[in-house]
Amino acid sequence: MAPPESDAATHLARAQEAASHVPGIDAATPRRPVTRVGVVGAGTMGSGIAMVFANAGLAVTLVEKDGEALGRGLGRIRDVYQRAQTKGTLSDAEAATRLARIEGETDFAALATADLIIDAAFEDMAVKTDIFTRLDRIAKPGAILATNTSALDVDAIAAVTSRPQDVLGLHFFSPAHVMRLLEIVRGAKTDASTLATAVALARDVGKVGVTVGVCDGFCANRMLYPYLRQADCLMEEGALPQDIDRVLTAFGLAMGPCAMLDMAGQDVAWFVRQRQLKTWPKDMRYSRLADLLVERGRLGSKTNAGWYSYPSGPRSAQPDPDVEAMIVAESNRLGIVRRPISDEEVLTRCLYALVNEGARLLGEGIVTRPGDIDLCYVYGMGFPAARGGPMHWADSVGLARVHAAVVELHARHDQNWTPAPLLAELAASGRSFADLDKVPAAGGVS
Ligand code: NAD
Repeated sequence: MAPPESDAATHLARAQEAASHVPGIDAATPRRPVTRVGVVGAGTMGSGIAMVFANAGLAVTLVEKDGEALGRGLGRIRDVYQRAQTKGTLSDAEAATRLARIEGETDFAALATADLIIDAAFEDMAVKTDIFTRLDRIAKPGAILATNTSALDVDAIAAVTSRPQDVLGLHFFSPAHVMRLLEIVRGAKTDASTLATAVALARDVGKVGVTVGVCDGFCANRMLYPYLRQADCLMEEGALPQDIDRVLTAFGLAMGPCAMLDMAGQDVAWFVRQRQLKTWPKDMRYSRLADLLVERGRLGSKTNAGWYSYPSGPRSAQPDPDVEAMIVAESNRLGIVRRPISDEEVLTRCLYALVNEGARLLGEGIVTRPGDIDLCYVYGMGFPAARGGPMHWADSVGLARVHAAVVELHARHDQNWTPAPLLAELAASGRSFADLDKVPAAGGVS
């Protein structure tokens, strides 16, 4: 019997190999040459994305809206290289070579010779459509136009161009030059050569590329939504942020949900919730707790206060009695009698929420294989590699057991727990997610 860790490692290695086998493309699909990459926006993501390509030997043109923002972006890049030089992980000569590959510009015309252009400007549909309208006028024929949007509709962005076949999402994770996951978002009109080029390029620049379809949040972020909702519901019922984070980090996650949102910014998650609330089903439980944090200006570690307080910087998270009082007051307002919540309940409710949403993504065809989801979670979300990803872990628990728990939670709680049809089907037929992890006979872009 192989120990579970080596089983998980084998599963992840196979999943990575399988991820290059994308329906509709194969080794014969033409790839477009990519030697010059344009990046629009030199903020947190744009500067990281510029380094991804410069580090891999490609020429990068980084475009900002003005000289000041460009200076900040280039400064961020220099800082990253400088830190690596100080640590001795990057030679002075190599740092200089990489920096020299990145040219900063404030005029979109500089993007005219790029083979691939990636938008990393603000997450706002009006900004994205304006940028893609301009790129459509400027980019050379055959250039690939990509957006790093976290959740916006890639098809709607492609629709403002005269060349939707050349458009797709390239969703990097923060920090882009460190995190290995790259979600490659295939739009309804993305053509095979655009996709094949992106899949091959991901591998060439050292990323784990996973092809996903268009939906709010794609794979990794969409699965986060119900997971985070469970964390909030558990807090309403009796848990505190530190209880939830302790259980999930003990399981092996790099960070629990509360610490993670404090790092990402409570305001970022607030904007996502406001967008989603517009179509929120009436019978779905919604916790206001995270909204209350934002109303109090507790936007996370950047404001020294979120679910935790941060008396001396982002690494100094401490439980905060004011947050506990806020949570208890909300339970009282809702008439919920707070109760002790076991570690087991925290773990299963958070992770089963992930697994159920993962099964829904598979059923909808947004992701091709359970292994793709596992790659997203291990390489983009800090899920412990030793457990092989959430779907592999669910197989080890047994899908009949997971499904039975989801059905019970659905009956007890709300529509957040509507069982994914695929989970029900697999549980009823005694199958596992591993049974679906089949590589199509043809395919791959090696
Ligand atoms: P940011 O605010 O740090 O940077 C955005 C940059 O774009 C700013 O420097 C701004 O000056 C520039 N910009 C805005 N409009 C522009 C224009 N018309 N032309 C040129 N530059 C322009 O934002 P960010 O966190 O880097 O996010 C950028 C994109 O990446 C968003 O779509 C976001 O959803 C996505 N994303 C963010 C993260 C994350 O963790 N921050 C992760 C994945 C994806």
